[in-house]
Amino acid sequence: MQLAVPHTCESLERAINLLSLRFSAGEQLIQDLGWPRYRTSQLFRWLYRKRVRTIDEMTDFSHAARGQLQQLGKIARFEKVHIIRSSDGTRKFVARLEDDLSIESVLIPDAGRLTLCLSTQVGCTLDCRFCLTETMGLKRNLHAHEIVDQVMTVQDHLKSDERLTSLVLMGMGEPLANFDAVADAIARITNSEWGLGIPARRITLSTAGMASRLQEVAALGVNLAISLNATTNAQRDVLMPVVNRLHPLDRLLAACRQYPVAPHRRLTFEYVLLRGVNDTEQDAKRLVKLLNGIRCKVNLIPFNEFSGNAFRRPDDAVVLQFQKVLRHANLDVFIRKSKGRDVLGACGQLGELPPREPVLLTPARAHG
Ligand code: SAH
Repeated sequence: MQLAVPHTCESLERAINLLSLRFSAGEQLIQDLGWPRYRTSQLFRWLYRKRVRTIDEMTDFSHAARGQLQQLGKIARFEKVHIIRSSDGTRKFVARLEDDLSIESVLIPDAGRLTLCLSTQVGCTLDCRFCLTETMGLKRNLHAHEIVDQVMTVQDHLKSDERLTSLVLMGMGEPLANFDAVADAIARITNSEWGLGIPARRITLSTAGMASRLQEVAALGVNLAISLNATTNAQRDVLMPVVNRLHPLDRLLAACRQYPVAPHRRLTFEYVLLRGVNDTEQDAKRLVKLLNGIRCKVNLIPFNEFSGNAFRRPDDAVVLQFQKVLRHANLDVFIRKSKGRDVLGACGQLGELPPREPVLLTPARAHG
């Protein structure tokens, strides 16, 4: 292999971002360089553990070896990150990507826990009517390294006494519509030899319900959350049209029943409560029936309002009543405190606000 490329600005432009390599591609690179195999883990440790920004800092590579690497590769992390702080302690990180698009990650402190919510796409392919990200459409899928960089960037900004306790793939995008990159990112995040070393059991992947891919999630070892949000196909067709037409409720729930839930773990069902749409006693009772026999917990998310969307948040009393019906049926039910609402950092509030007033979807129409 001819490596003597002159080290000019142009060659740097063309250089591979070493962070974009999955481990097997890293092994190939090391092999092409004629270096011993163990060098791959060494290289990846510099990237993900020591987090160096230049190849020159990789001091256990010889001077000549670093020179060779520099001619092929570079290390490109997010260049610009904007942090917006909410009055409740939530921090929203907005990172600029190479192509000038931006993505959002949200750091949520709560009762001694520190959860980071990650994005997997810029925008989203789905069209869930209650979600701000939907109004953007899909701009593009994120690459694995852009998912991992969200974690590294936030970790770099943590105070010395702060440590991430969990990661949730619940930000912008549908993780299962970008599965390869998500799986690769999770491999790097969980790897304990050279990667970020965050155990898979501390990671939750949330899907709008792509039933046919649930088995692949099981193989990743992470927790699975399903955004159910409706108890009949008629309702779900209106609220989440794309995903429910592809994977109607009965098939989704059948896939959940077949899901190999690991010992001591359970599935999570998320349910966005929309005033007058899916928050009635009948809805709660239907939900109990649908979940019958599935080892699970339920997270109720009172709708987070945003401008241009006509859905409304139910009154607290209605939320509590809904919870009571589920509890009565012995389901574990939590009401998600939506944090970061003042910085549009809460569930369903990630993404650009639409430039013009969009067509209003009235709750009456949402009844189908
Ligand atoms: N596409 C994935 C992950 C992104 S949405 C999924 O659908 O699960 C993350 C969670 O936020 C989902 O449970 C979704 O139902 C919920 N959500 C979306 N918009 C919301 C809003 N405006 N208010 C409250 N929750 C919302």
